[in-house]
Parts: sequence; structure tokens; C-alpha cells
Amino acid sequence: TREWQLAARPHGEPTPDDFRLVELERPDPAEGQVAVRMLVMSVDPYMRGRMNPGKSYAARWEIGETMKGGAVGRVVASRSPAVPEGALVLADAAWRDVAVLDAAHVRVLPELPGIPPSYHLGVLGMPGLTAWAGLFRLAEFREGDTVFVSGAAGAVGSLVGQFAKLNGAAAVVGSAGTPEKVRWLTEEVGFTRAFDYHDGPVAELLAGAAPEGIDVFFDNVGGEHLEAAIGAFNEFGRGALCGAISGYNATEPAPGPRNMFMMVTKKLSLRGFIVGDHADLRDEFTTKVTRMVTSGDLVVRETVREGLENAVDTFLDLLRGGNTGKMVVKLAD
Ligand code: NDP
Repeated sequence: TREWQLAARPHGEPTPDDFRLVELERPDPAEGQVAVRMLVMSVDPYMRGRMNPGKSYAARWEIGETMKGGAVGRVVASRSPAVPEGALVLADAAWRDVAVLDAAHVRVLPELPGIPPSYHLGVLGMPGLTAWAGLFRLAEFREGDTVFVSGAAGAVGSLVGQFAKLNGAAAVVGSAGTPEKVRWLTEEVGFTRAFDYHDGPVAELLAGAAPEGIDVFFDNVGGEHLEAAIGAFNEFGRGALCGAISGYNATEPAPGPRNMFMMVTKKLSLRGFIVGDHADLRDEFTTKVTRMVTSGDLVVRETVREGLENAVDTFLDLLRGGNTGKMVVKLAD
């Protein structure tokens, strides 16, 4: 089987030389194990943190070891009654085409007619739950709120905006990195207003897009976006700090928002969170969002690339904004 290994730790932006594709012998599954052929694998921004030498919230990838990430696959051989041959499973085991895994480390997925397996890596998976937990639990979204979402055309952001809209937001404003994404957000996803953050200082663009001020901020980007949101907040505003992708390739820590003191005068609460701590919401999330997907209430977009050999280029392109919606790599039919 083929798998990707980390070859070197990047300084700043990662390059293809930081990765290597290797061919390995695959062992047969032992008692309690299954062999899984991966159908589709996820590339996610948090993986940039796994390349770093220091501590990140997800386990760091070691040099010379197989990289790991979310994937959906089919069990092709099983020595575990709990996970039979043919089962569709979710595992933290791709960046390879076949993996032999302990059955305890895979989750059997329901077969949902009309729903592609990749949705378990996006709208029905980790990014979906992140949007759900961040908006409803951390930011305590309420009907009538004006919501600002940074990174709005991505996997998490495009869902945050829709969850807010479908639950009675007064307005949903988003920022994204290209005119096409901005158009998609307002014309197809249902954002009230959106802007391209390259078009000027974010604070000015946000003031134009949300003249009424914002009550909730869902931050995927950090840096200038966070500072702009602090400036735009109404009193008692609430923010879910989900990610700060604008700084993931930085070689020095970015200076903090200069207007932090407004947190005091506007009585704001900004809460950071990691989706893994909110797994108790998964059942409610899965039931409700599966219904929303099946009924067509959600606009779900994916950017799908093909082939394990293209996984690294796909990951690097994700970090540069080459995706709209969830970015995945299709590995097999
Ligand atoms: P996305 O699908 O949003 O993909 C990443 C996007 O980031 C790109 O498409 C690009 O879009 C944007 N981007 C890249 N560089 C910059 C920059 N310098 N400034 C602004 N935007 C940039 O990824 P996800 O939806 O999976 O993740 C979104 C965020 O949520 C990330 O920060 C991620 O780390 C975080 N996250 C946090 C979790 C948690 O538990 N706290 C769980 C899951 C995700 P564009 O063209 O608009 O620039």
C-alpha cells in the first residue's frame, strides 16, 4: 500500500519537499483488527499544526511516520464481529490507500441513501460539528442576532452562516478570499452580505457590510479579522474563536488585536474552543443536520480532487484558499 510520510518540518509555508509518498507491505489484520480501503480522505487546516515541532491540540506528525487524518473507507477484511466486512467506517487513518486498524479505532457509519461518503468528513463530520458547537454553544447564538463569519466560504464557515440564517439571524455577513466565493455566499448560500477581504482594510469592509454592528462573531481567520470584529461588536457581543488560519504559516507570532480593551467597554465574551470537547452534541447534531441535508435545506459544496498522489498538492492548495466548501481527496470508488 502507498502512504504519505512527513519528510521535514516546514519553516513558514509548507512545500511538497516536506512530504514523501512511500510504498509499504500491508500486514494481514490480527484478531480484533480490520483492513480498510479508504474511499475519501480529508485535508484540514489543523493539519498544518501537526507538522510543527511544538505542541498542537492534535498529535504532532513525526518525521518518517505515516501522516494521519480523517477518512471514510470500506472494510475489506475483518477479524472483529463488531465491524464486519463491507461496513462503511470513519477513521483517523488516511493519507494512505489501505490501513489495518484496531476495530476499536474505527466508527461504523450509517449507509445513507443519496449522501456521498465524503459528507462524513464535512457537513456531517468534524467541520459540521465545529460549526454547530461554536455557533450554538460557544457563541450562544440567539434569534435576531447579526452574525459575522470569517473564512465564510470554507467547510466550517459556509455551514455557520446557514445554521444562523435557518435559525432566525437578523443578518449573516461573511468574508472570503475571492470574488467568486463572495458571489457564491450571497447568491447561493444565503448570506445577507459578504466581502472579499483583499479589497481593503477588513474593519472598513466589515463596517460597510454590517452597518448595524455585529452580535456574534465566528472566527476562522484571526489577526486583522479578529481586530475588525472587536471594533464592529455591539454591546454584549459573543464570539466563538475557532481558528486563526491567517497565522498558521507565520514564522513569528502575529501581534494581537490593538483594540482588546474594547472587550471591556463593550462587555464582550470571546471563547476559544476545540470541537473534540463537544462530542456530547454529536447525536443531536447528526440527527438534525442529516435531516437538513436530506431535505435540501443546506447548500453543501465540496472541492473534490482525485488520487492519493495528489493529496499533498490538495492540502497545500487548501491552505492557499483553493477550495470552496469542504476540500477532500477521492481515493477509490
Ligand atoms: P476551510 O474550508 O475554511 O479552508 C481554509 C480556508 O482558509 C481557505 O479556503 C482560505 O479561504 C482561508 N484562508 C487561507 N489563508 C487565509 C488568510 N491568510 N486569511 C484569511 N483566510 C485564509 O477550512 P475549515 O472550514 O476546515 O476550517 C476553518 C477554520 O476552522 C480553520 O482556521 C481551522 O483551523 C478551524 N477549525 C477549528 C476547529 C476547532 O475545533 N476549534 C475544528 C475545525 C476547524 P479564502 O479564499 O477565503 O482565503
